[in-house]
Amino acid sequence: MYTGPSVSHHMGIPTTLTEVLRTYEPVIGLEVHAQLRTESKLFCGAPNRYDPEQPNQAVTEYCAGLPGQLPVLNVQAVDMAITAGLALECTIRTHSVWARKQYFYPDLPKGYQISQYDKPICEGGRLVIRDEQGEQRTIGITRIHMEEDAGKSIHVKGRPYSLVDYSRAGVPLIEIVSDPDLRSAQEATQYLRELRSILRTLGVCDGNMERGNFRCDANVSIRPRGQTSLGERVELKNINSFRFVEQAIEIEIIRHAQVLEQGGTISQETRLFDPDRKQTRTMRSKEEAEDYRYFPDPDLPPLVVSESHVNELREILPELPANRRQRWMNTWNIPEEHAISFAEERALADFFDAAVGSQATLAPAIANLIKTEILRELKDTPEAIAESKLKPEDLRTLIVHREEGKISSSQAKKIFAKLWKGAGSIEALLKAEGEQIQDLSVLTPIIEALIQANPKQAEQLKAGQSKLAGYFVGQVMKQTKGQADPALVQKLLTKALEKMG
Ligand code: ADP
Ligand code: MG
Repeated sequence: MYTGPSVSHHMGIPTTLTEVLRTYEPVIGLEVHAQLRTESKLFCGAPNRYDPEQPNQAVTEYCAGLPGQLPVLNVQAVDMAITAGLALECTIRTHSVWARKQYFYPDLPKGYQISQYDKPICEGGRLVIRDEQGEQRTIGITRIHMEEDAGKSIHVKGRPYSLVDYSRAGVPLIEIVSDPDLRSAQEATQYLRELRSILRTLGVCDGNMERGNFRCDANVSIRPRGQTSLGERVELKNINSFRFVEQAIEIEIIRHAQVLEQGGTISQETRLFDPDRKQTRTMRSKEEAEDYRYFPDPDLPPLVVSESHVNELREILPELPANRRQRWMNTWNIPEEHAISFAEERALADFFDAAVGSQATLAPAIANLIKTEILRELKDTPEAIAESKLKPEDLRTLIVHREEGKISSSQAKKIFAKLWKGAGSIEALLKAEGEQIQDLSVLTPIIEALIQANPKQAEQLKAGQSKLAGYFVGQVMKQTKGQADPALVQKLLTKALEKMG
């Protein structure tokens, strides 16, 4: 992206990523905030429904920070956090501690955020991604801790005030912190995609970056190749799309190299990415843990989770995307591209599995139909398959009929369109289309009559103007109301022409 040819090359200062990568190795660690899809908030009964169009509609006295309110823990959020931890192969702490993190900001009415500090609920997991060469790489998960989201400040342009929406205050979050194991911007976005896909598969997070329910801070540093100790890092805050994550990291890598090559030093700070100017700029110097005055929250006892409860949650874990992709590719011969796109969305993956059922040999045909017809209908919302009127087993029946030649592919398409709209049962639709006409005593006379009626075209076709075949086949289809088997008609046509004097 920023690897194009450089215009100038002053005093050996690198201007492109390619140049930087010759001498330096990037190191990246990601912190992801994922909002949990619970019914209610983390410590009060307010609904977990943050809608920017309807500010301050999901607020109780507790999330507004009024005095005298005490937190009551939402166990659904805890189960979701543990589930995420299990899917990421973490150790689950049976004894974790809620900590107050103090800072002052208008969107944090209590003056502190309840989080977890030195005893987070999950630690030491891993996530496997593929690097640019397609090799598997294991990225360590340092920790996952639970915390409450802050409200949302809205700065109104040209006004001397800001607005604040407390509907988001108290929404449960998990923060998933990776080890500094990522080595390129592409690896970082790969990691994010896989993580998002896992959380969506678990049903614990919507994973929508634009809407802010899946947010990423990227820590970036570089070091001379061969050096084992880490370089000084900066933290890039709240980047809201995969594309911007990649751009921001690459820009930051180049900036670091330029600073170092000019004899400067990188200072640990928090920076913001400006997608319009394609640059990062200082937001603030990095806070240290001491700045937050962490201490265990006196209103909440330590969170105790039994081993047996963790095991119960482990047992009901759904099949994870990586597993599904492998199973589809290895046992069903599904192309990797399709496997990746279906596995990313749980509802779609479930639909595909249900449609194939025990008919493994049909899997490639079904995958193809999902890719071409269904995903085209669903466009950017593959999850909407869950609400579609098309039943997976009907799709299978349809493909069976088509593969057995009982209906033509154009008939299959017609029936599919009706099933998609919910217009009729599969049985009725198959019956209405009728069995494909393969009866020679029906087809041959039609073809012969057509040749007789169009002697010139028939001659030309016979002489090699194969374009005309379409005309004849089309006429037969028309006369049989689309029920003739077009491949058979083509064969009979060739035969009939050969017989011509
Ligand atoms: P903090 O909570 O202050 O942001 P952490 O120690 O929890 O700090 O680290 C946050 C993230 O920074 C982690 O994802 C970690 O992998 C990453 N990180 C730490 N050191 C470096 C470094 N030198 N270069 C890149 N990333 C780093
Ligand atoms: Mg941090």
